[in-house]
Amino acid sequence: MSVSRRNVLGIGLSMVLAGSLGSPALANGVVNVYTYRQPSLITPLFEAFTKQTGIEVKAVFADNGLVERLAQEGRNSPADLLLTADVGRLVEASGRGLAQPVSSPAILEKVPANLRDEGNQWFGLTMRARVIYASVERAPITAITYEELADPKWKGKICMRPGNHPYNLGLVAAMFAHKGEDATREWLKGLKANLAVKPSGNDRSQAKSVFAGECDLAIANTYYMGKMLTNEQEPEQKDWAKAVKIVFPSSPAFGTHVNISGMMLTANAPNKDNALKLMEFLASDEAQQLYANGNFEYPVNPKVQPAEIVKAWGSFTPDTINVAEVARLEPAAAKLVDEVQFND
Ligand code: FE
Repeated sequence: MSVSRRNVLGIGLSMVLAGSLGSPALANGVVNVYTYRQPSLITPLFEAFTKQTGIEVKAVFADNGLVERLAQEGRNSPADLLLTADVGRLVEASGRGLAQPVSSPAILEKVPANLRDEGNQWFGLTMRARVIYASVERAPITAITYEELADPKWKGKICMRPGNHPYNLGLVAAMFAHKGEDATREWLKGLKANLAVKPSGNDRSQAKSVFAGECDLAIANTYYMGKMLTNEQEPEQKDWAKAVKIVFPSSPAFGTHVNISGMMLTANAPNKDNALKLMEFLASDEAQQLYANGNFEYPVNPKVQPAEIVKAWGSFTPDTINVAEVARLEPAAAKLVDEVQFND
């Protein structure tokens, strides 16, 4: 889910069969999926769906450009379903008329109202929280508010990636939604004044900075902790992760800021019935668990348990605002980030 600038990998070539080729069970047609999520994460879900239904899943994987492609293809698009790693693209795609509403009770029952479109044009599937990685050695705190990050007591102690990264814009937009423009501007100024170094890097590199003693608190997404703790390719990341503890911030005004990955039925889905079956499957308890565990995220259905490693971080109260409302305020948040010259 890192934001990658890699281009669409030759879409024609990346059209792959996620179901088992040549299986005699595949007599029930296909469903075509455009997905921003990584093959390693989503392919096991497609395989489980094919096994259950005999419907073949054809997927186009890309890091960029799928919403644009949908728009250009228009009525001729083969895509039935769009899967994204963030709410912003769902809001964008539905705002451009590329979605159609879904009223299946099997989906509505599983996805909380604040994690889906008000008109049911898209649905969250997994959730991640934007939290504090606190130094185990130097900042043994058990609670913190987002507002406190601007308190001078943390002067020179905080590190984070650039303020205009979508993950941070989401957090700034949540602050904006709950507390208004002026309070958010002041908060950003205070937070900027508390930074140990200019914002740079990604979420994992903030844990590395805490490990290296450069700062005591970092702002990052929950799932990177799981990715670092289990990283056998770069085992030094395990040390970064062990140097920090996740603290779920809240605010007197709102709960912990969350973002979602999600799904959307396309406006002209040629295989609509099969697409609905796949959506119902993805919203099911079984699939949500598989999906969330694959990336150390939280299932959107609060009745489905996250992975053990994720559970060990403790529980939190997510913000109850609709994630779409936050996404719509991101441009306003970006303006404030520029205005206070947050990254300079
Ligand atoms: Fe990410």
